[in-house]
Amino acid sequence: MRTPIIAGNWKMFKTIPEAEAFFEDIKGKAEVEGVETVICAPFTTLPALVKAAKGTSIKIGAQNLHFEDNGAFTGEISGLMLKDLGVDYVVIGHSERRQYFNETDETVNKKVHAAFRHGLLPIVCVGESLEEREGDRTKDVCKVQTEAAFAGVPADQAVHVVIAYEPVWAIGTGKSSTSEDANEVIAYIRELVKGMYGETTASQVRIQYGGSVKPENVTEYMGQQDIDGALVGGASLQPASFIQLVEGAK
Ligand code: 13P
Repeated sequence: MRTPIIAGNWKMFKTIPEAEAFFEDIKGKAEVEGVETVICAPFTTLPALVKAAKGTSIKIGAQNLHFEDNGAFTGEISGLMLKDLGVDYVVIGHSERRQYFNETDETVNKKVHAAFRHGLLPIVCVGESLEEREGDRTKDVCKVQTEAAFAGVPADQAVHVVIAYEPVWAIGTGKSSTSEDANEVIAYIRELVKGMYGETTASQVRIQYGGSVKPENVTEYMGQQDIDGALVGGASLQPASFIQLVEGAK
């Protein structure tokens, strides 16, 4: 009943011509009935991608936004501006932003509110570091991050949040979480949503796994009961592997 969602997170890769060429290659192929396809791309490529995606089922997302709409925030981009571009999704709280750009649970929450203020759908990232996993704190970390992200978000919006569980130690390392382990944490995150919003919302919220997902392992993750798709970095950059990821999510 939950539509699986495969989202590519290009991170800081691709020029405008590269983005256009990529889209040309995946058009009609990374569009599979019953799977939602999203590309989260650098700001500079968004206008070209939004234009290319018109008339297709592929959605375009940004990788960050500022939580204010306008103001003296040099170098920042707001939800108002993303909506203006015609973007559908926005990634919020990616671990790279938490680690390198001072993203906190508080700013993540403000950004979730800002996204909804402008009709953008947030993909909220949560997940533990290697040290936290080894210290058996995975669930505690996910609880704090998830509950903070949803603070003050009403149920009619919460149901549209996509959560991406991305264990930091599995990102770009080739060391993916086993599908069983990922499912266990994701089922726990669903319980947290249930605690905040009740059974119906919890059964509708989509929760992705992210961290070294590839065409070779995507089907295994998708076979798990609580995993509703993947947020993919490296393997989303080549058209052929991105198409395989979407097909593997059927
Ligand atoms: P990789 O798929 O390259 O491990 O990256 C995962 C990620 O950070 C997606 O947001």
